[in-house]
Amino acid sequence: MKTAERRTPVIREVVVFGTPVLREKSTPVTKIDAGIRQLAEDMLATMWSRNGVGLAAQQVGETVAVCVIDTTRKLDEPDQDGDDVPMPLVMINPEITGTTGKDTCEEGCLSLPEIYISISRAAEVKATFLDLDGKKQTIRATGLLSRAIQHELDHLNGILLVDRMSAIKRISLSGKLKKMKKTTEDRLADTAR
Ligand code: ZN
Repeated sequence: MKTAERRTPVIREVVVFGTPVLREKSTPVTKIDAGIRQLAEDMLATMWSRNGVGLAAQQVGETVAVCVIDTTRKLDEPDQDGDDVPMPLVMINPEITGTTGKDTCEEGCLSLPEIYISISRAAEVKATFLDLDGKKQTIRATGLLSRAIQHELDHLNGILLVDRMSAIKRISLSGKLKKMKKTTEDRLADTAR
């Protein structure tokens, strides 16, 4: 987008496992312009519309280093240390700068519908990122927020939940994943025709 003209946030399609863009690494944002701002707003609207906790650019077909997170709507989760982090979070060029401890928990992903996988991750992370004003922010997160940050940063590196699951889970899910991938590939081939 070239002009500074604003449009209403658009709910985008969330791409599903088997879509090549999910495997692409994102490129760092060099300029936070109207296009990036619009993308962030679209991603927030899309995440909220799907009751998601986080969304990465790849999931709406983009390959810039932008992700959004909002853990405030998951009220069944216990209180987080990260409660003082203002939500929603728009993280541009995010980086994890430190981790502590381990924690295993079930995770889902909007790009892997109806699949929940138990994943071991760091219990606490320190992360830096640029906000929409281009200001560098540093946060410390535990609980759901820590998990969401690690999940979304994986997306920005082309990594999915299925890459982190146990060998046993991989076997038990292989049929379902193959089917999901095939359906996506067939659909992509159809639209390309
Ligand atoms: Zn995901």
